[in-house]
Amino acid sequence: MEVIQSFTIDHTKLKPGIYVSREDKGFTTYDLRITEPNKEPAVAPAAIHSLEHLMATWFRNSRVKDDVVYVGPMGCLTGMYIIMTGKYSVEDMRKLTIECLEWILTQDKVPATEPESCGNYLLHDLPMCKWESARYLDRLKNDFHCEYSKLKITLDDGKVFADA
Ligand SMILES: [Zn+2]
Repeated sequence: MEVIQSFTIDHTKLKPGIYVSREDKGFTTYDLRITEPNKEPAVAPAAIHSLEHLMATWFRNSRVKDDVVYVGPMGCLTGMYIIMTGKYSVEDMRKLTIECLEWILTQDKVPATEPESCGNYLLHDLPMCKWESARYLDRLKNDFHCEYSKLKITLDDGKVFADA
């Protein structure tokens, strides 16, 4: 088995920000890193679930809605993935995410939290979602990071898997 690209990022040096993790098949995957992995607490499951509903709602109603392919949480609960068609710069994504988070802070309800529309409708926490959104917003505005440090991983065939 080959080491997949996202596992070659050095998670011990990772700062909150927005990073391009993949560009392939006409799609770009952006990593929205909300917390510092293994140093700060991860986002609580209920809060990141609410963030998923709110972010997906905003992005899919925004001026870039036709290019939004996917919005969802990372399994490690330290950030979100957004997949877009076309090429948006990290700076474009930063501006969009700032607008999205500012909108989230004005919301008093999480959309689609009925059993008909959500797979775990009781797992929501709007106050914590807004707390995380406010902190991430501050980081995107005042302490922004967008360059990954890659680990050098040597594969079985001797090839080095790292492109930065
Ligand atoms: Zn849901």
